[in-house]
Amino acid sequence: MTKARRARFLGDGVVELAQEMLPDIAAGDVRVAVEVSALCGSDKRPYREGSAVVPGHEIAGRIVAVGGGVPTHRVGERGVVYAPVFCGACASCGVGFTNGCLKLAELVGWQRDGGYATHVDVPAQCFIRVPDAMSLDVAVLGLDTVGTAAHGLRWAIRTQVRAVERVAVIGCGPLGLGVAVMSLEMGLPVPEVFDPVPGRLAAAVGMGARRLRDLDAENQYDLVVEASGSRTGREVAQRLVRPGAVLLALGESDEPFVIPANPRTRRTNLFNLRTFYFPLSEVEANWAALARVGPGLVSVLSSRATLDELPEVFARFYRGELLKPFIRFDSP
Ligand SMILES: [Zn+2]
Ligand SMILES: [Zn+2]
Repeated sequence: MTKARRARFLGDGVVELAQEMLPDIAAGDVRVAVEVSALCGSDKRPYREGSAVVPGHEIAGRIVAVGGGVPTHRVGERGVVYAPVFCGACASCGVGFTNGCLKLAELVGWQRDGGYATHVDVPAQCFIRVPDAMSLDVAVLGLDTVGTAAHGLRWAIRTQVRAVERVAVIGCGPLGLGVAVMSLEMGLPVPEVFDPVPGRLAAAVGMGARRLRDLDAENQYDLVVEASGSRTGREVAQRLVRPGAVLLALGESDEPFVIPANPRTRRTNLFNLRTFYFPLSEVEANWAALARVGPGLVSVLSSRATLDELPEVFARFYRGELLKPFIRFDSP
């Protein structure tokens, strides 16, 4: 039996910490002692509305126990948690497209307990080992920040027959920053970035991006990445993208994805692309890039807090005062 300290989101911004006994580890699972749990903007909804499970889906840690029938993993291994609980057997999983699993029933931290806790049990296939030389602070950014960004960019590039000459990124939160540094890393032109918050914009410019000057001009970019999720951001993106080009909608919100039925949209070819997370098959290719861009991202994005500070830190995060707080646990 493991005694765990876990956060419960009760709704209306109330976060309660409780000491709970974890049940015996289920067959097929590994028990992870969490070392880093990164806050994600998508958790603002459960913060408002409450969650039946322990939230937190950007998790890095170390295996402390292995359930039955898991020959692949051992106690002591360091890794990050892949949030989609994929089946491994459907047509999508069969070709390595694990983020497109046809039987995807759960996401860690959404439909089953996640990482705002000292310990979390996850299916063994969702525990991704991290290279020894990489810190878990950097590795955790390989998930939603760099993994999602790199995957979206790879799919976007695929749609283009000509070289991408101009890239725009709308929104310079963690995901937008991930997109900006990964587009540089992947050899795309220097991205032009926009964010209404001066500090976020400055962070992106500090990491090598250029300020996007004209939000009103039409037909400017071969690749527009919408990373804010806001209605305005999506409208701007529809305007900036040129015919034949690709609009990658990565930003999350409850707003609908709208393709406007105006003359411009009716009379042009355009790729409206939405991608989700990343397939496990891309993880290996991302480590090297992450080793280069990760430390810079950590220093720009993250701040550190303890689990007991989560109620206060999440409130500040909710107000937009912090980009990506890391809940840090001392190594056991
Ligand atoms: Zn996330
Ligand atoms: Zn599957």
